[in-house]
Amino acid sequence: MRIGRIESAWGAEALRPAVGWKVWRVDEEARLLSVLYGDLWPVDEPVRATCRRVVHSSHEAPARGCECGIHAGRELGAWDHYLAIDAESRVFGRVLLWGSTLEGAHGWRAAEARPVEIYVPSAVTNQEEVAEGLRAYGVPVHVLVPLREEVLVP
Ligand SMILES: [Zn+2]
Repeated sequence: MRIGRIESAWGAEALRPAVGWKVWRVDEEARLLSVLYGDLWPVDEPVRATCRRVVHSSHEAPARGCECGIHAGRELGAWDHYLAIDAESRVFGRVLLWGSTLEGAHGWRAAEARPVEIYVPSAVTNQEEVAEGLRAYGVPVHVLVPLREEVLVP
């Protein structure tokens, strides 16, 4: 299993990881950035959550009663609005989440995450180049083609 291999590679298998959906922004170098804060997702190591409420707290992320942690959704539909805005630079995919993980009704907030699979919609500028660059993450990158209906309906 592909996800099993990624779990082993990052030592996450003992931590009962979850797999959720996520939307990212891509920069000019085809690297993944978080949509809300623009945090870079490194190509060669997991991204680790930190809390931004540095003034009032210094807890480990994620924490209950806070919004920190790496957010991922149970369903891709939860992120529809993020994909619709600035669609020319938005990609989505599945992420493996582990470490301290809080489960909510619609998804998770986790301490650490790695992409498992990335999808590049046809609305993305320089779609093929972006997809090629994203292969640096070492996970499958899928180039989406517009559905026939979308081509026909203006
Ligand atoms: Zn926090």
